[in-house]
Amino acid sequence: MSGKVETHEFQAESRQLLQLVVHSIYSNKDVFLRELISNASDALDKLRLESLRDGDLDADTADPHITLETDPEARTLTVRDNGIGMSREEVKGLIGTIAKSGTAEFVRKLKEANANKDAAASADLIGSFGVGFYSSFMVADRVTLVTRRAGEREGTRWESTGEGTYELEALDEAPQGTSVTLHLKPTDTEDHLYDYTDVHRLRQIVRKHSDFIPWPVRTTVERPATDGENTSGERTVETLNSMKALWARPQSEISEDEYKEFYKHVSHDWSDPLETIHTRAEGTFEYQAVLFVPSHAPLDLYQQGGRRGVHLYVRRVFIMDDCTSLLPNYLRFVKGVVDAQDLSLNVSREALQQDRQIQLMHRRLVKKILSTVAALREKDNERYRTFWREFGPAVKEGLLSDTDNRETLLDLASFPSTHHPEEQTSLRDYVSRMKDGQEHVYYLTGESRARLENSPHIEAFRAKGYEVLLLTDPVDEVWVDQIREFDGTPLQSIAKGQVDLDGGAEDKERTEDKQRAEEFEPLLARLRGALSEDVKDVRLSSRLTTSPACVVGDAHDITPNLEKMYRAMGQ
Ligand code: ADP
Ligand code: MG
Repeated sequence: MSGKVETHEFQAESRQLLQLVVHSIYSNKDVFLRELISNASDALDKLRLESLRDGDLDADTADPHITLETDPEARTLTVRDNGIGMSREEVKGLIGTIAKSGTAEFVRKLKEANANKDAAASADLIGSFGVGFYSSFMVADRVTLVTRRAGEREGTRWESTGEGTYELEALDEAPQGTSVTLHLKPTDTEDHLYDYTDVHRLRQIVRKHSDFIPWPVRTTVERPATDGENTSGERTVETLNSMKALWARPQSEISEDEYKEFYKHVSHDWSDPLETIHTRAEGTFEYQAVLFVPSHAPLDLYQQGGRRGVHLYVRRVFIMDDCTSLLPNYLRFVKGVVDAQDLSLNVSREALQQDRQIQLMHRRLVKKILSTVAALREKDNERYRTFWREFGPAVKEGLLSDTDNRETLLDLASFPSTHHPEEQTSLRDYVSRMKDGQEHVYYLTGESRARLENSPHIEAFRAKGYEVLLLTDPVDEVWVDQIREFDGTPLQSIAKGQVDLDGGAEDKERTEDKQRAEEFEPLLARLRGALSEDVKDVRLSSRLTTSPACVVGDAHDITPNLEKMYRAMGQ
């Protein structure tokens, strides 16, 4: 006997997101199928892995595959897999909730774009967020998901029209894995192009977006009868994808589109990658890797718990989708697949970190990525600038953690400076512009460029024609302390006492300060009392020109920016 039907509300952010997806004009609706097949493929990967790890798992692993079933009369399309499936709680957590950090921010921006009827901006946003399963609602007005987790007895039916609520029902009988049935919107079937019950269309879409999926994507094809009389033809099962592992194919035979589609599958991102790196090593330890630099930073790049790492395969067998041992944390935005020849299939996460082969691959992959970025700077500065804008602050963390590549990283980096109002400069270019007699690379750290440019310290340097780097990322405060020089030229903060370009003014200022301090002491004392819970001290400031007050850290306190950064780095 099946359980009763319960109605649940979507979590607030998911509800808003769905609303926006349903009403957004995302031009390429075909991608919903890529998303569903991608999820099904992940579910088959997970099943294989789980049955490998857990010999007692009561699961059917005989013929892992994905099927597309159509019903032109009922106007439905079903994507079915016999993978890992979901428990009831997983359905609620994974399908009823958007677990991605940054969703609220995304929803706010998307609302704004839709309010302004800005279809391009809205498409851009959805593209850079990637709405996954929810993209079903771009083509369907009702979606039914039936699932049973491998090893469990009870199944779950989930159904929603994409509005405020969804239904849940316990099922006594359900096949292992997941089926997603889309009740296609009528508007999408008027035009042949959008008839997702048409096998030709499905074949086209699968070949275009999902060809490399390592599991068969099957559908039943009806061949027209040949005798002209009989209308019911012969039914055959056709596999729509070639299933070839992309990374194992020769580079010269892979088109740019194929790389792009593969990127979208491994990254869950809908936009194109900025850069693709396909590399392999042969000999004592063999591996193949396809790595991607995304074209935009994920919303959670500086938060913990975000998606990290590359997919690790061992001889074509999927091992994990978040292998963080292969790349350093400062390259955590790099996506892709590494397939290693000589690792054990049972290798544990802990063992991976100690593994000598992994360490060797790690070293080589880092070198490869950094040299690719360096080459990008030379041959395609526009794209390098995108790279640095999106990922620079993360890459600069490597200046602290990756001493082996410190020189390379310093050479890769760009910094805003007083030389140009918008363009950033490399350290090498800075040095080449140094004035006669200038012995230091000067810099100033702070929260924003505008604030730094108004700093009284800068005036004197401007007057002398000395360029000053304006360092505004939290991480800058740390690396400048540890890396004291670039290529033999010492780095020097212009906010520190010993840099004194205006000489004699000091003494006079000090006496003035003292007088003012006495005058304001009663006020300061009262403020200290009132704010004693929140601040250590209240002082008169000479650094402010227009603002009445500001909160400053002690020299040894960590700043709020830094605190944020350390948290992101997991410290
Ligand atoms: P993403 O794939 O980026 O995680 P989705 O919205 O596509 O986001 O899917 C959300 C989650 O729902 C997946 O991470 C997965 O845990 C679960 N899920 C979706 N489809 C399936 C499926 N066919 N089988 C098992 N789990 C699934
Ligand atoms: Mg997905």
